[in-house]
Amino acid sequence: MIKKINTKLVKLIKYYSLINHNLIYGNEAINRYKINSNLSNKGLKGAKLQELKESIRKIKNCELKKGSTNIVFSDGNPDAKIMIIGEGPGANEDLEGVPFIGRTGELLDKMLSSIKLDRESVYISNVVNYRPPENRSPTEEEVTRYLPYLLKHIEIICPHILILLGSTALNTIVGKEKVISNARGKWIEKKIGNCNTSIIASFHPAFLMRQPDQKKMSWIDLKMIRKKILDLKIDIGK
Ligand code: URA
Repeated sequence: MIKKINTKLVKLIKYYSLINHNLIYGNEAINRYKINSNLSNKGLKGAKLQELKESIRKIKNCELKKGSTNIVFSDGNPDAKIMIIGEGPGANEDLEGVPFIGRTGELLDKMLSSIKLDRESVYISNVVNYRPPENRSPTEEEVTRYLPYLLKHIEIICPHILILLGSTALNTIVGKEKVISNARGKWIEKKIGNCNTSIIASFHPAFLMRQPDQKKMSWIDLKMIRKKILDLKIDIGK
């Protein structure tokens, strides 16, 4: 009798392993959302970002690229719900291939930490991915060349909050007619590709280093961002 049951059990196990079915179920609910989001974030999102980076590397006849050492694609967490766009890499960023790592980057880190953010809770990129010579701003032609890549970048990350630092980022994403001193500190709802996002512009840290008295305005914007994070219940991992 026991032998008969054992033979039946062995056959059953063989059958389940053949169809790759898990015989032992726990009591936990199956979290399909989690399974899917993990897949998309680590697999598909990573692949899309890699593909985008490669297509930027392949841009032809770009004067910025010719004079630079490295592509400066991004820093931070691709799964973050907060994305920051600066203007373009400086000398330090060009050497390391990472955005916002010089003195401007130090100030940005301080600004982020004042509202409990850091590079793990945000994703950072720039309007142009190669360093403009002599730290000049990118020309209109250069901005136009990089715009499709920037829009794609935002669409892939699809942040709930998009922070535009300085007038180049503001004018590129929101409109050429906007002036940073008027447009900063105001939420704009916008759809970029398939992504709905809340945008806020604020002063660029490089500008704040030149005009420290404007830090009080920047602090107002940072507090607005903090409130939005709480309102949208964005998990910043703290
Ligand atoms: N300024 C920017 O706008 N971006 C950087 O990456 C560094 C400085």
